[in-house]
Amino acid sequence: MTETPVRLLESLSRRDSALWVKHDDRTNPLYGGNKVRKIERLLEHAKRSGKTSLVTIGALGSHHVLATGIFGAAAGFLVEAVVVPQPSTPHVLEMLRADLARGIRLFPAATLAEASLLLAARIARGRYFIPLGGSNELGASGYVEAAHELAGQVARGELPEPDLVVVPMGSGGTAAGLAAGFASLGLRTRVLAVTVTEPPWLLERSLRRLTARLAGSHARDAQSRLETTRSYLGGGYGLITQEGDRAALSASQVGLHLEPTYTAKAFAAALDRVALGRERTILYWHTFSSAPMAPLLEGAPEDAAIDPKLLRLARRSNPPR
Ligand SMILES: *Cc1c(COP(=O)(O)O)cnc(C)c1O
Repeated sequence: MTETPVRLLESLSRRDSALWVKHDDRTNPLYGGNKVRKIERLLEHAKRSGKTSLVTIGALGSHHVLATGIFGAAAGFLVEAVVVPQPSTPHVLEMLRADLARGIRLFPAATLAEASLLLAARIARGRYFIPLGGSNELGASGYVEAAHELAGQVARGELPEPDLVVVPMGSGGTAAGLAAGFASLGLRTRVLAVTVTEPPWLLERSLRRLTARLAGSHARDAQSRLETTRSYLGGGYGLITQEGDRAALSASQVGLHLEPTYTAKAFAAALDRVALGRERTILYWHTFSSAPMAPLLEGAPEDAAIDPKLLRLARRSNPPR
């Protein structure tokens, strides 16, 4: 894992509150984003288990499924994924095409109950199981290490010690690992986890549990520095919001490319916190790959050649207002 850079976003900062970005979009030149730090550890463990194939689960446009497919295949695994519905956006369909181009075997499930049955059947056939978002203790420990990486950058004077890190929260591994890491390091940095998935109560509960397990003797400290907000979820998981769209436009002016499900919503939260001016240094942790998609889409099937059961998982996007 090479260190990802940090950068001050001067034009989006205010006098009382500086906005920085941590470039985890560049965790890997082939495919970046936050799944890379988690999948590395999970694949090492899968190798040690002696298994030759893996199965994971995610929404239709899941970055985690694509990352598992890319890095799993590179490590010599056959990769399978059970996929569940997600509101349709051009980005979601692009992820689906990339999954198919990378040779991932996709199993469509219309409901979570169906997904559980499919998963159980694949695991019974000897697949190594990688959980949603790669967010078990082992996967999320990649973000404990990322907290150490940031502490090193602070120590070397590359950025001031952040008062707040803002990160989108899906399966929770990223926010949990960072909060646990900051607590064990004794940094003052707090974590704002922007809830973008549903049901929020369930994911927030598993975020708290994972944080405590990762932090060990620092569990209370880690919990107390973790803040969650549902204010940016809008109509629900994967649905576009106006605040998100506006935030994505601001981001594009400083060279950051956001997608609507996670990063647009988290960046909107970061901009609001800058406007509040309560924290001197705010670090937006950028979790979405900025690697070019063209090489990953090479050989992707035309829509007409895609299993209609998969395409039916692309649910109608924003309901009419
Ligand atoms: C998966 C993902 C997240 C959520 O990370 P978790 O560790 O699952 O909470 C955030 N941003 C992007 C771009 C993602 O793909």
